[in-house]
Amino acid sequence: MRMFEFQAKRIFREEGIPVPKGGVATNAVEAEQIARKLGGPVALKAQVLVGGRGLAGGVKFVDDIEEARMVAEEIFGSRIKGEIVRRVLVEEKMEIKSELYVGVTIDQEARAPTVIATSEGGVEIELVAEKFPEKIVKRKVDVFRGLLEYEARSIAKNIGFDHRKTLSFSSVLRNLYGVFEKYDAELVEINPLALTVNDKFVAADAKLNLDDRAAFKHEDLIRSLEEEAVKPIEGPSYRACLAREAGISSYVELDGNIGIISDGAGTGMLALDLVEEYGGKPADFCELGGFMNDEMMRSALDIVSSNPNVKLMLITLIGGLTRMDEMAEGIAKFIEEKKAEIPIVVRLAGTLEEEGRQILKKVGIDSFDDMYDSIGKAVKLVGED
Ligand code: GDP
Ligand code: MN
Repeated sequence: MRMFEFQAKRIFREEGIPVPKGGVATNAVEAEQIARKLGGPVALKAQVLVGGRGLAGGVKFVDDIEEARMVAEEIFGSRIKGEIVRRVLVEEKMEIKSELYVGVTIDQEARAPTVIATSEGGVEIELVAEKFPEKIVKRKVDVFRGLLEYEARSIAKNIGFDHRKTLSFSSVLRNLYGVFEKYDAELVEINPLALTVNDKFVAADAKLNLDDRAAFKHEDLIRSLEEEAVKPIEGPSYRACLAREAGISSYVELDGNIGIISDGAGTGMLALDLVEEYGGKPADFCELGGFMNDEMMRSALDIVSSNPNVKLMLITLIGGLTRMDEMAEGIAKFIEEKKAEIPIVVRLAGTLEEEGRQILKKVGIDSFDDMYDSIGKAVKLVGED
């Protein structure tokens, strides 16, 4: 079982391995708050279960707090190697002098845990093994004795550290081996282990893969890690990401309860203003835009209705290039499949509007022709709630 970097780092910290100060955010506002608390430059790191995030755009650095929110927003709305980013780890940015690699895994041939360390960290260990095999230090560990002090020191010496660094480096190695043993890991890895400008070793990254064959010994831990992993599965940034993937031009959440979907920016803005004027509160601005079809409408309904604040959906459409029959088709599909639990109010006009109206009638929706009427009705329905 693989765990997220922030989960592995929590365990590392408990076991005495230095990790950077920081916190986990589930949206950009939270990211900014954590950055503010940390003060100073921060690292923003996408929490996904794939490696090589740095190169894939999942690790960013910012110098000031205002920037933190914007950059976090970008990371939240993206996928890293196919994985949607639901959490961002915000950490103090360290000033790194050099990057090392340390890891423990089972050497199948030696049938023993093996500590691997090299001064050439920050890149994949396989690449180091190819390029500078002589720079990799390996040491088999006796499972009954564990990694002894003198063994850890001899690894440090092989890397070429002076006495003081040898002591602190050995402590990281021994604690890392401790994690490997305590958690029945398949692999523990710190890549890079940063040597900071203050000559401190700090785990800039953390990997801890549990051995599934030992899962029965760690049931509570595994359950809590899994629960933590799925918890904030639905949030504003997750919905914004889905919207982007569906080709929806813009999706911004507001703090009201009327979910608004429009086919153009102008209609959408007008609907926002009118809803406010009628005494209602918009929950979002969702403009389809681009090449609209029934699928896109269907996705917009899925996304907007999954916002727990939304008590009613107001769809306002003006058909120029957009075909009202296609839009209606998307709405009808949503209603048939989802048996919508919240009311839907539709206003449509323009290209193929009669066809659209007929389609909606079949699923029980009397669409409006006049925008004011539709908004008045929507605000009234929500008010009655
Ligand atoms: P990975 O690409 O998924 O392995 O993500 P890492 O956590 O290893 O981050 C990628 C790279 O970002 C590292 O190799 C470091 O060079 C750099 N990095 C990560 N954290 C810090 C930090 O706090 N300060 C600085 N200066 N660089 C960092
Ligand atoms: Mn790494």
